[in-house]
Amino acid sequence: MRLSRYFLPVLRDVPKEAEIVSHRLMLRAGMIRQQASGLYSWLPLGYKVLMKVQKIIEEEQNRSGAIELLMPTIQSADLWRESGRYDAYGKEMLRIEDRHEREFLYGPTNEEMITDIFRTYVKSYKDLPLNLYHIQWKFRDEVRPRFGTMRSREFLMKDAYSFDLTKEDAVRAYERMFVAYLRTYARMGLTAIPMRADTGPIGGDLSHEWIILAETGESQVFCHRDLLDKPIPGQDTDFMGDLKPIFNDWTSLYAATEEMVDQGEYEAAVPEDKRVSARGIEVGHIFYFGTKYSEPMKASVTGQDGKETIVHMGSYGIGLTRVVPAIIEASHDENGIIWPVSVAPFEAVLINLKAGDADTDAACEKLYNELNAAGLDMLYDDRDQPAGSKFATADLVGIPYQLILGPRGLKSGEVEIKHRKTGERESLPLTEAVARLK
Ligand code: ATP
Ligand code: MG
Ligand code: MG
Ligand code: MG
Repeated sequence: MRLSRYFLPVLRDVPKEAEIVSHRLMLRAGMIRQQASGLYSWLPLGYKVLMKVQKIIEEEQNRSGAIELLMPTIQSADLWRESGRYDAYGKEMLRIEDRHEREFLYGPTNEEMITDIFRTYVKSYKDLPLNLYHIQWKFRDEVRPRFGTMRSREFLMKDAYSFDLTKEDAVRAYERMFVAYLRTYARMGLTAIPMRADTGPIGGDLSHEWIILAETGESQVFCHRDLLDKPIPGQDTDFMGDLKPIFNDWTSLYAATEEMVDQGEYEAAVPEDKRVSARGIEVGHIFYFGTKYSEPMKASVTGQDGKETIVHMGSYGIGLTRVVPAIIEASHDENGIIWPVSVAPFEAVLINLKAGDADTDAACEKLYNELNAAGLDMLYDDRDQPAGSKFATADLVGIPYQLILGPRGLKSGEVEIKHRKTGERESLPLTEAVARLK
């Protein structure tokens, strides 16, 4: 992508309305635009990051055996009356009436709708276990939308729903999601800690919130320090096998949110030098809630014994549009964002130090074409602008590698590579640049 023809509305000034660093940086780097309170457009650079996050989530959901579908954003009120949540949900729900005066709502979550799909098609225990997920926009009329897309009203969520014959099977489904979540956040460069959590309005008795430690987090959390650098299960994890050892290993170390913490228990379980009491951001939440929805909505299958059995369910959410700012909270410096390679909007940026100079332009074009041909997702800063401003933009938008080429390097046949994260610089022959980045 040539920056001269891209749409990257970088802001020079620090936006006054933004209280936390990720919100400031997302606005300054031209990633998002607020359209109304809690409603955002994702501009091209931000959208690229969001889609990279989405791809990682999909890969790990699929790996664990979950199956993707897509449900609508608008739902019928009658469906929610079946579970009893239409009245219970309160003001956070955006209620809509169509031209025929029928009642609808903009979905804040999809337990009811997925249960309806399930009960329509699935009739036998032989079709279980089943886990269906989608990645779709949700709406919650938050009392206080704030921090940009961290707490917006319309937000993109991955929500998965598991269906099983028994509680034991449902717990196994929960464990699969638990391990999939460990892998998902780690691949995005995030250290997300599963913490025992309150089940809230979704209800149920087994639940973990996935928490990123950050000073700007909205909740207080308590955990064992060893959870911060525990090795993550590998790509070869057998999701058909027994995941309980991994689950037990992770949950044996104390971790709880403020609604769940018991100070005495915490202090007894964690030695003083291992105690972490910090602010945290909730980037995901998983629940096992048994028959809370399947019972009133009559979602059952015929069991092996021929009897109708109400299925056990769980639900598993990740806020994609919250994960993006959470990554920035965890990874930035005074010059801007530092993207982990896995979610970076571009893998590298080529900076032409003397746009307009025929030789430099030709050398940059050649290198840019070679890097593209090698399959790298490149940004090429071909603009006629001072070098200082190009460096500032590259640092601000946080692309992992900067390739810097000007007349001087050209003379010696060398390109400079700057690592955004460490600030390290190395010079290498132009002919080796492609091999170095691949
Ligand atoms: P919070 O406590 O922050 O209000 P929640 O507990 O209400 O979140 P859940 O119902 O557990 O949220 O939804 C699953 C996930 O969706 C959350 O873990 C979070 O990542 C994301 N999420 C929820 N509300 C928002 C929001 N207003 N903006 C962005 N993401 C959100
Ligand atoms: Mg909420
Ligand atoms: Mg919460
Ligand atoms: Mg939650």
